[in-house]
Amino acid sequence: MNLQAPIAEVVENKRNFFLTGQTKNIQFRLEKLRKLKTGFNLHERAIIQALKADLGRPEVEAFTSEIFLINQEIEHAIKHLKTWSKPKNTNVPWQLLPATASIYPEPLGVILIIGAWNYPFQLNILPLIGAIAAGNCVIIKPSEYAPQTSCLIAEIVGKIFDEDYISVIEGDVTISQQLLAQRFDHIFFTGSATVGKIIMAAAAQNLTPVTLELGGKSPCIVDIHTDIQKTARRITWGKFSNAGQACIAPDYLLVHKDIKFQLLESVKKYIQEFYGENPANSPDYGRIINLKQFDRLVELLSYGEIAIGGETNREQLYIAPTIVDRVSWQNEIMLSEIFGPILPVLAYEDITEAITKINSQPKPLALYLFSQNEHLQKKIIQETSSGGVCFNDTLLQYCVPTLPFGGIGNSGIGNYHGKASFDTFSHYKSVLHKPFFLASKLLYPPYKGKLSLLKKILNF
Ligand code: NAD
Repeated sequence: MNLQAPIAEVVENKRNFFLTGQTKNIQFRLEKLRKLKTGFNLHERAIIQALKADLGRPEVEAFTSEIFLINQEIEHAIKHLKTWSKPKNTNVPWQLLPATASIYPEPLGVILIIGAWNYPFQLNILPLIGAIAAGNCVIIKPSEYAPQTSCLIAEIVGKIFDEDYISVIEGDVTISQQLLAQRFDHIFFTGSATVGKIIMAAAAQNLTPVTLELGGKSPCIVDIHTDIQKTARRITWGKFSNAGQACIAPDYLLVHKDIKFQLLESVKKYIQEFYGENPANSPDYGRIINLKQFDRLVELLSYGEIAIGGETNREQLYIAPTIVDRVSWQNEIMLSEIFGPILPVLAYEDITEAITKINSQPKPLALYLFSQNEHLQKKIIQETSSGGVCFNDTLLQYCVPTLPFGGIGNSGIGNYHGKASFDTFSHYKSVLHKPFFLASKLLYPPYKGKLSLLKKILNF
């Protein structure tokens, strides 16, 4: 993009592009989605390198958690876009016949996407796919804390798209603030609840709708009726991938007291199997994003009793996969989102009490239950509230394009992925079409003598 252009002008140019009406054409949108797919795939190697540089992300994880998800989402949108964008006829009350009614999805206009650093490609590109599919113009502001990735997104998007249609503005909080001073038709934000409130307050100045993809403390309950080995393996993977820096990583374990020892022994075994005797030497284990996050996480290690791990190296931004036992709900470690490779463990005896405790906390983004007890699975769905639920695995609910992804309460507002993204970036316009034949005068003044007949007809 033109680095000299002031932000207000960049937004204005997008608005003018939108007003040309080009983005309303479905073929235009399909063509742009195909271009996006080709453009990203051509840069697969560079994406892997940028993720390695920013987060020490192993290639397999770069592929599964970013490249694959982007491709899957684009293909899903291309496959379904014609159906999603068709107007849908709907019934009208018989009293209004012969009128017909339909619902038309229409694009919102100019969208601002502000991304987080932990999955820095897909957190910007998945919403972009929805915004393109729904026919919008877009500005993306990636996180400054993943600078190689931010730069590469700008380069790729700059090569693929007309800058008046879609562009990237890189920068830190000051750039974010300048962007937020503009009027957008929707702001899609991924990040912390604290910044989410700032985004929402800025958006309110222009009555701009927001999607807030936030985080929180996602509980992971382990019931006694479970396969301990598989449970431990899936928790170890879900917690320590990307060094625990995932919004839907299990934040803490709530394990039945009778299997706690066995579970922790198994987690220990899998940490060794995954990352070797010393995870610091493993090519498959990531690093903390920066010193600020590192220091915050190390501070959390002073609560409870370290059962596994606990080693740190500030120079290398390394924190070993760590399990902390004997914590209490009042400890700092249980008061805010961990967002790192530290897993506190609490034991429970009575699941109803555990559920009551979860329900007394802010609503989480994800809730995990490991249990083969179908009755308990139903109980969890009925008695808890969270952005999503996953039984007997971790993280994978994020990878299903037909499942809307988003939080509730403190963990977010709105959702996306697949059709939910198309809906997020569309306005559903209600259209009533009334023909001129069969024109009754009953509704119009003078009303004298019409009420009893109207009552009979309307209440029929
Ligand atoms: P963050 O809130 O610090 O920053 C997110 C974005 O907001 C960045 O682009 C940043 O430049 C911008 N920003 C920061 N301060 C700002 C301000 N004062 N005004 C305007 N813009 C500002 O979050 P983060 O550290 O990048 O990400 C971590 C958080 O994101 C965690 O809470 C995590 O759970 C959450 N997260 C949620 C999801 C999800 O899909 N729900 C995904 C990833 C991360």
